[in-house]
Amino acid sequence: MNKFKIGCHLSSAGGYLAMGQTARAIGANVFQFFTRNPRGGAAKPVDPADVRAFLDYAEKEGIGPILAHAPYTLNASGADARVREFAESTMSDDLKRLELTPGALYNFHPGSHVGQGAEKGIELISSMLVRILSRLPKPPATTILLETMAGKGSEVGGTFEELRAIIDAVEPMLPYAYRLGVCLDTCHVWDGGFDVVGDLDGVLNAFDSVVGLDRLHAIHLNDSLNVRSSHKDRHACIGKGKIGLDALVRVINHPRLRDLPFYLETPNDLDGYRDEIALLSSRRS
Ligand SMILES: [Zn+2]
Ligand SMILES: [Zn+2]
Repeated sequence: MNKFKIGCHLSSAGGYLAMGQTARAIGANVFQFFTRNPRGGAAKPVDPADVRAFLDYAEKEGIGPILAHAPYTLNASGADARVREFAESTMSDDLKRLELTPGALYNFHPGSHVGQGAEKGIELISSMLVRILSRLPKPPATTILLETMAGKGSEVGGTFEELRAIIDAVEPMLPYAYRLGVCLDTCHVWDGGFDVVGDLDGVLNAFDSVVGLDRLHAIHLNDSLNVRSSHKDRHACIGKGKIGLDALVRVINHPRLRDLPFYLETPNDLDGYRDEIALLSSRRS
C-alpha cells in the first residue's frame, strides 16, 4: 500500500522539532517551511540539538521529505546586481544549513527577468545555480527544485520549456552527477494556462516530454481563486476555487503523481489545514 504523503506549510518559528510535532498533530507526514522571513532578511541560526531531535522524531514518526521554501524576494534574474547578490548569498546560506537535514528538498521561484527577457533571465538563474552548486559538498545533501510559475509579470518558469532550459544550462556545467528537480504547483500551472481540470493526462504528458516526470519531486497542492490562464497566482482553499475538489482528488490519486509528497499552501490556519488533510485523505484511493 502506497503511503499518502500529505502536509502543509508550517511556521518555522519554533524550530524543526516543533514543526514535526505540529505536522503530526494535524495528520501531516510531510511539511514545508520558509528558510527565513519570506520577504528576505537574515535566517535564525540553526540549533544542532533541535535538528538532531527532529531527525530522530521524523524517523520514528515517518515524517518527510521536508521542503524548505526560499524567500519570495529571492530573484536570481533581477536587473540590479545587488538583487542578484542577495539571491546568491541567500540560497548559498540556505543550502549550507540544509546539509544538516540530508534528503530535504529546496524549492525556489526561478525569478522575474524584469524586462531583460526570458533568455537573459534563464542565463542569470542558471549561472547562479552553477556557482552555488560548485561551492557545496559534491553532491549536496539537498535536491533543488525549480517551481512552476503562473507567468505573472515577467516571471521565469511559467512554461515547462523555460524550466527545461535552466536544467540544460546547469547540469552540463557540473563536474559530477547532480540533477535539478521541479516542484509543480497546481494553482500556478492552472493560472499559467494548463488544464489540470479537464486534461490532467495531457498536462502530465507535456511535462514529461519537455522536463521529464522523473524530475518531479513535489506537488504544491493548491486551488486557485482565478480562471485558467489568468496568470494571477492567488491560492484558494481546497475545493473553494476554480480548480475544485474533484480535480485535486484526481491529482493526488493519479498513478504518475500519487507517490510524490503533496504540500498545501492554501490560505488556512492549522485547523483549516487539519480539515483539508482529513478531507484529502478520505478521498485517497
Ligand atoms: Zn512557491
Ligand atoms: Zn503561488
